[in-house]
Parts: sequence; structure tokens; C-alpha cells
Amino acid sequence: MSATVIEVAELRKRYGAFTAVDGVSFDVRAGEVFALLGTNGAGKTTTIEILEGYLRPSEGTVRVFGHDPADRAALRSRTGLVLQESGLFGDLTAAETVTAWRRFTSGARPVAEALEMVGLTGQAGTRVKRMSGGERRKLDIALAILGRPALLFLDEPTTGLDAEARRRVRDMVGELAAQGMTVLLTTHYLEEAQELAARAAIMDKGRIVTQGTMAEVLGRGSGRVAFELPPGASPEGLPVGERDTLTVTGRRCVIVTADPESVAHDVLGWARVRGVRLSGLDVRQATLEEVFLDIAGAGRQEVRT
Ligand code: ATP
Repeated sequence: MSATVIEVAELRKRYGAFTAVDGVSFDVRAGEVFALLGTNGAGKTTTIEILEGYLRPSEGTVRVFGHDPADRAALRSRTGLVLQESGLFGDLTAAETVTAWRRFTSGARPVAEALEMVGLTGQAGTRVKRMSGGERRKLDIALAILGRPALLFLDEPTTGLDAEARRRVRDMVGELAAQGMTVLLTTHYLEEAQELAARAAIMDKGRIVTQGTMAEVLGRGSGRVAFELPPGASPEGLPVGERDTLTVTGRRCVIVTADPESVAHDVLGWARVRGVRLSGLDVRQATLEEVFLDIAGAGRQEVRT
């Protein structure tokens, strides 16, 4: 197993009588993208700001590369931050911005390499105020990775961008991860987390409601296996687990299940044994968005009762 880069154990953060983070534990391993997700006000930004060393925990243990995050000197060169609000100067060009940042970044990449890594070579001479939102976000990321950090904090890197710019930033994060960078990502675009992250945690009201590999988190929701039986074939004996539900409408069968892959496998086995040919087989796992909406919905019901 890879080394642990971030360790969070029983973290709590109180603002007066209000507990914003209420006993959160997770870890992030070297070389993985970990998504910290949650409903509005769940405590993600508070958790990340503690990891970045900007806020102190009220209780619990937090370690980044084995250090207390407040020890900024030990961590500065190993971590890159992309905050929600960027602080770029409109009158500088992309290349001038990187050049300025290189002065106080030790072991900085050359300007051309930093711009190339984020796909901004063509915009080197463009002033920040003339750049698109997506280009500015890429420049933020270029600055964050300038000192070759091993860990990158990406706090909502694509918020406010259009679909195409989001796709470009997302591809770039995927490439950085493929090069071995550890990434802690927060985002409200769940398809982005589903695509990029190997593991995820979903927070609600200061607590982690579910966490694990993306497959484990998705397994919390219900996927489906749908197909049509040939005329005359009976659905009798279809392999439907105790927690699964089968709905038959004419020849069309839909099995709702947490584990659509194994159900599909069993259904194909069932058909083979009976010499039945299935048509229109459609196997779909729950999406992260569905799992998330389930969690958010359960939270609201709790409040109501
Ligand atoms: P969002 O997705 O909406 O950005 P979040 O998960 O990042 O939410 P946080 O910003 O961590 O949530 O906030 C968690 C809770 O703590 C919120 O209810 C917020 O109002 C509260 N909070 C944050 N900072 C303070 C503060 N300085 N004083 C009091 N309450 C605070």
C-alpha cells in the first residue's frame, strides 16, 4: 500500500457553540486523487483550511506528510494550493505572472514548462484580464504546481467555468494525477469527482456519511440491469438478490440492485442455461450524483422528523 500523505483522525472544529466539523477521519495516500465532497455547509472548506494550516482544529489529529499543517515551513515546498478565489494581477501576462511567482518559489519549473503543463503555451503573452475564466484557472494551477509539489489541494477548481473549460481543467488534473501527484479535490461537479478520484468521502453536517473507493461509494446507491426477454420466455427464476427488486413490464425486465455488475453476470448465466437470448441488455451503476442526492435527501428528512 502507498504511503499516507494526509491523515485526519477525529477532527473537530467548533465556532463558538456550533460544531462545523464533527469527528471526521480519513486519509489520503501518495499518488491518489481523493475527493472530499458534501452538501453546502457540510464542513469541507473548514477541513481543507485546517489541512492547509490556515485554521487550527478544536480537537483531533491532522498530519500532512507527517507534519502538523501549522508548520508551514516544513510543508510549503511540498504542497500546492488552488484556492476558490485566485489572486492574479490583471495587467500581467501569463508568462509575467509565472516569472513573478518563480522569484519566491524554490526549485521552480521554467516558465515555458509550467505554461506547457497546463496547456497555456499559446496564451503566454496574453494579459490575465483578457484571459477566459478557464485560462485563469489553468494559470492558478500552473502557479500551484510551479514548485513541483507532491500534494495539490484543489478547492473547487472548475466552479463558474463552462462545460468545455471544465473538461479541459479536468483533463489536466487527470494528467497531473497520472504523473504521480497526490490531489485532494473538492468540487460540486460530481461527475468530475467520479471521473478523477480513486477514493472519496461525502460529508453532511460536519460528519463523513460515506467514504471508500469510488466503487464502494457508488455501491451505496442503486444501479440497474435492464433487458428484454424473447417472446414466450418466462422471467421465473431470474437471479434477484434479497435486496434487489425486479419489475417486469411485458417482456421488459428491470432489476434495481446495488451490484449491477454481478447481477448482470448472473442474469447472463441464467439465460445461457435456459437457452434464452436477451436483447437490449443495459447495465448501469448508480452515479455519484445519485448517491449524493440520497445522502442529502436523508439529511433533510432527519431535520423534518
Ligand atoms: P460549501 O459547499 O457551501 O462551500 P462547506 O462544506 O465548504 O460548504 P464550510 O465552509 O466548511 O462548509 O462551513 C461549515 C459550516 O461552518 C457552515 O455552516 C458555516 O456557516 C460555518 N462556518 C464557517 N466558518 C465559520 C466561522 N468563522 N464562524 C462561524 N461559523 C462558520
